[in-house]
Amino acid sequence: MHLELTNEERDLHGKARAFCDEVLLPRELEVEEHGHLPKESRGPLRDAVIEWGFAGINHAPEDGGTGCSIFQQVLIQEQLGRASNGLWAVVWMPAICLKEGTDAQKRDYLVPCCRGERRDCYAVTEPDAGSDPRLIKTRAVKRGDHYVIDGEKWFVTSFDAADFMILHAHVDGDAEKPTLFLVDHDLPGVRHVRSPKFMHNYIHEHAEVVLDGVEVGADKMLGGVGEGFELTKDWFVEARLEIAAHCVGAATRAAEIANEHAATRVQFGRPIRDFQAIEFMIADMAVEIMAAKSMLYRVAWEIDRDIGRKLVHARVSALKLHCSEMAGRVVDTALQILGGRGYMRENPVERLYRDLRVDRIWEGTSEIQRAVIGGQIKKRGLEVYTGWN
Ligand SMILES: Cc1cc2nc3c(=O)[nH]c(=O)nc-3n(C[C@H](O)[C@H](O)[C@H](O)COP(=O)(O)OP(=O)(O)OC[C@H]3O[C@@H](n4cnc5c(N)ncnc54)[C@H](O)[C@@H]3O)c2cc1C
Repeated sequence: MHLELTNEERDLHGKARAFCDEVLLPRELEVEEHGHLPKESRGPLRDAVIEWGFAGINHAPEDGGTGCSIFQQVLIQEQLGRASNGLWAVVWMPAICLKEGTDAQKRDYLVPCCRGERRDCYAVTEPDAGSDPRLIKTRAVKRGDHYVIDGEKWFVTSFDAADFMILHAHVDGDAEKPTLFLVDHDLPGVRHVRSPKFMHNYIHEHAEVVLDGVEVGADKMLGGVGEGFELTKDWFVEARLEIAAHCVGAATRAAEIANEHAATRVQFGRPIRDFQAIEFMIADMAVEIMAAKSMLYRVAWEIDRDIGRKLVHARVSALKLHCSEMAGRVVDTALQILGGRGYMRENPVERLYRDLRVDRIWEGTSEIQRAVIGGQIKKRGLEVYTGWN
């Protein structure tokens, strides 16, 4: 068993850290001020992603990506996660299920997405369907050689930056036929309703969208009728892994800032780190990050060794649960060490505190992850989590 990074992995890690420091961090206050990344800043950042070699890191070179392994992607995402205000999303990751498309779909959607010429967003959630996607009401009904789609989607992240949706619908309104469609935003009947404000600032919007009699050709179906849930599960796994990596990166940055502050802030005649109350907080943060990072690297490493789809799904739920809850605790502690300065919006720790809250909600809440884990233990035993193979 090798626990060291190879030279290539170390270089990639260093490059991702430099990208975050040089390209993303200087934009944080701009996003804070506007509540999103202004449109005129998007082009230069897109060009930077291509120049630095981070375009389509999760897809194969033949599909226009860079073909990074899961472990390499995690090394990159961990560093991107250090940036507040969702700036990590500057580095586009076309949804993994696009690789299941037909040759024409790959040519028209996946390849241009990897190159940064198009952008996808993913629409599952609805007003009455959140944790339980079987409650989805968006329906697709076949009429001749096309489908007519009606429904409403909420929280569609990056709708404003994307030009098509990967839309989760039920064919004929039948929950046994969950199916994905590629829906171009400029089709008649696709209507942006509003983009509410959220606790965090994020480079793009989380939109509410109505589909009113939208006609798409049968060739826009991704996978087959009834295969939508399995494909969406693949996307969940990818997104949960990405969230876990961001959480480790964000927690590390918050801990670094707090540690530095504790060494230089003097009260009652000594640096505050000399008070055991503060020293123990720093120790706890370090241990929390060490444990979560070990779990992150282990699970990523295992996925590259093909442990099987079910085990990947099971372990990634545990990883997302642990890393998101760990990051919440760490950033709260870091903010406490910073005192009033930690409560200022100009302080990265304050922004990360707001940013990290959603990681316990999106892509499956903490309760849903626990339900997945509990179900796996019931079916396959505790060893799924406590064993080593
Ligand atoms: C900023 C943001 C961006 C998002 N981006 C996207 C996106 O791009 N695309 C997309 O499709 N969705 C997106 N979402 C939606 C997100 O995935 C959902 O919010 C999430 O899945 C939870 O659904 P819900 O909000 O409807 O909560 P609900 O499902 O209504 O849950 C409410 C509460 O009940 C609990 N609960 C529900 N069921 C159970 C259960 N079985 N056992 C125990 N507790 C339970 C939940 O854990 C939660 O605490 C986004 C959400 C946010 C906030």
